[in-house]
Amino acid sequence: MEKDSIKYYSTNRKAPEVSFGEALLKGLAPDGGLYVPDIIPSLGKEDIESLFSLDYPHVAYRILNSFLSGEIESKKLLELCLDAYNFDIPVEKIFDRTYILRLDQGPTLSFKDFAARMMARLMSYYISIENRHFTILTATSGDTGSAVANAFYGIKNIDVIVLFPAKEITGYQRKQMTTLNKNIKAVAINGKFDDCQRLVKKAFLDVSLSECCLTSANSINIGRLLPQSVYYFYSWSRIAANTDDSVIFSVPSGNYGNLMGGILARNMGLPVKKFIISANENDEVPKYLQSGIYNIIDPSINCISSAMNVGHPSNMARIIALYGGMMNREGEITESPDFSNMIRDFAGFSITDEETRKTIAAFYKNYGRIIEPHGAVAWRGMEMFREKAGASETDSTIYISLETAHPSKFRDEIVKILGISPDIPVQLSRIENIEENFTELENDYSELSNFILKQKK
Ligand SMILES: *Cc1c(COP(=O)(O)O)cnc(C)c1O
Repeated sequence: MEKDSIKYYSTNRKAPEVSFGEALLKGLAPDGGLYVPDIIPSLGKEDIESLFSLDYPHVAYRILNSFLSGEIESKKLLELCLDAYNFDIPVEKIFDRTYILRLDQGPTLSFKDFAARMMARLMSYYISIENRHFTILTATSGDTGSAVANAFYGIKNIDVIVLFPAKEITGYQRKQMTTLNKNIKAVAINGKFDDCQRLVKKAFLDVSLSECCLTSANSINIGRLLPQSVYYFYSWSRIAANTDDSVIFSVPSGNYGNLMGGILARNMGLPVKKFIISANENDEVPKYLQSGIYNIIDPSINCISSAMNVGHPSNMARIIALYGGMMNREGEITESPDFSNMIRDFAGFSITDEETRKTIAAFYKNYGRIIEPHGAVAWRGMEMFREKAGASETDSTIYISLETAHPSKFRDEIVKILGISPDIPVQLSRIENIEENFTELENDYSELSNFILKQKK
């Protein structure tokens, strides 16, 4: 490969730098750190201007190619982008220059589709070069598992085994995994999500399974981060009048992978004035931005924006690294980042469940549209930012609030708040009557290891 391709270092700085392909297939660095690109490519004004007239797959290609040229042949990368992004990405005007970016139209109706679909194709590409076979083993509390299962569905040389707690997920969530078949094996564990996670961790450490080439597809993988920088460029380029037209994003955050994508975009040259970090009651990051003191929340607080119930976001180590500091796995900051730059770039807000429900109700009343809990946290964070900033920020800046899931995924909550049901999109109605196929296992490791060995072809 070309010698100038970008290398990836570990946030713990005790592992060698690796190529993108290695970082992608490894997931976690051997020292337990997360991979971060050592150089963030910067796009020139003309490159950025050229995005204005491109559709999503071509914007994705331009952005990803700036990271991956020298790693993947351009023609191949464009093919992967065209194949991954074949659904709508609406940028909806709410008022003036304030917009909602709807990342909820993918096959599993959450923004996780953006990352999972690209990662699946990139992994398949690298695996086919080496002519290997991998099995992705993952545990899910609902949304990640369905995005990953759908993304890897029908992908050559990769099987997926997804463990879910038998009684803790909704019927729709289960059906999104159990109606696929082919290379996707869904396993109901007679236990809780924590039990599923414990079983998966044990399997990764089990040498008797080494021939099965198990790998993970969770949010720490760098392959999920790069694709998440694309929609920041894309949404801005639908609205901006020119390359100096600056933007403020509100990002509903849990593990902060979504925000990391935004930070990459900013460092590449996107004129982002500020990121509003919108958290639910798990407010460790907004508190940190206020006080400079980072305290993890353990156990995390259960909120209705359930995908953001994270008390120690894994991507914080990456964010701290990009600001010149170091954070270990326990969440201790062992080297201070440039805190004044952080508070220049970020404004953090914590939104309670009560405020989230009120926001869903007010949004429907004011704008006649239904948003779901995660998007409502982002919208409310943006309102709080504007209230706090007063007139100075009510200038001509573009505001984009991210809607990360489709309201139909939270139908019961929405009905409780609004008294009406959101439309059920075809992605859900289509699977309503398809026969389900899954294996039931006890919460017992030997049952799981036997199952994994039996899958080996
Ligand atoms: C995962 C998820 C989030 C949080 O994203 P992070 O990258 O973990 O910060 C927000 N909303 C929805 C619907 C999600 O599924």
